[in-house]
Amino acid sequence: LTGRFEGKTVIVTGAASGIGLATTLRIAREGGRVIAVDLNEEGLAALKEEHANRDIVTVTADIGENEDVARVIEACNGQCDGLTNNAGIMDKFVPIGEVSDEMWEKVFHVNVLGTMKMTRAVIPLMLGAGHGSICNTASMGGIVGGAAGAAYPASKFAVVGITKNTSFMYAPNNIRVNAVAPGAVRTNIGGDFASHLALARVGPRMQVVVPPPAAPEEIAAAITFLLSDDSANVTGAVLPSDGGWSAA
Ligand code: NAD
Repeated sequence: LTGRFEGKTVIVTGAASGIGLATTLRIAREGGRVIAVDLNEEGLAALKEEHANRDIVTVTADIGENEDVARVIEACNGQCDGLTNNAGIMDKFVPIGEVSDEMWEKVFHVNVLGTMKMTRAVIPLMLGAGHGSICNTASMGGIVGGAAGAAYPASKFAVVGITKNTSFMYAPNNIRVNAVAPGAVRTNIGGDFASHLALARVGPRMQVVVPPPAAPEEIAAAITFLLSDDSANVTGAVLPSDGGWSAA
């Protein structure tokens, strides 16, 4: 499959690792220019070096900071056909009775504030062009209560809310907004537990319902479907890619 992103510029956040890296490579392979955004400068440098033949522009940035977001938009040179809000962090399965303000704010800084700021920043470019496609990486944690601690699902339900509201608001402008909801995926996000208490609460129940983890490329396939014109008639949708977890 080639060509779905030819002539298109797509921003991918969290591009240095896991799902974002797989998505970056898939878009680039299909002819697109990728603005690859991450906090991890070394990871971005490795991406650029290993795939020097691809059209990949790297930007080291924290998506929760306005100045950094402005630098990402500058790198677009006035063109942004797609955005995937994919950067995200986990919460060590901490239940609300034990969550610190610091953990809550950290998770919301990336997963919610970052998603809002990046989306807000690309809207003018997409309005100007008369088209755009946005895919947010939600999670099973944005569909069910038992996929993480308190902060992560709160943040991912917010991502679903941003997805649905933005799709509704900008449908008249030919801007589509969807989300993918991955189940477990083999990446560097870290599914560690903060305490034995958290593990005891969640661990045995997750073992029963969670299918084996997927490869990041399997999620990238869903994201690029939602970003590309293949999904021209789809907006406001949350697509699980979870090996059947959400159907259990
Ligand atoms: P990952 O840790 O491998 O990659 C995430 C990347 O985001 C990292 O390179 C990290 O440096 C970057 N990042 C973190 N904070 C950032 C910030 N403020 N600004 C810019 N970049 C930042 O993890 P992943 O599993 O590939 O995660 C991608 C998305 O998938 C996340 O939104 C995550 O919540 C979601 N997700 C993952 C799983 C899973 O099991 N791995 C399941 C459901 C959803």
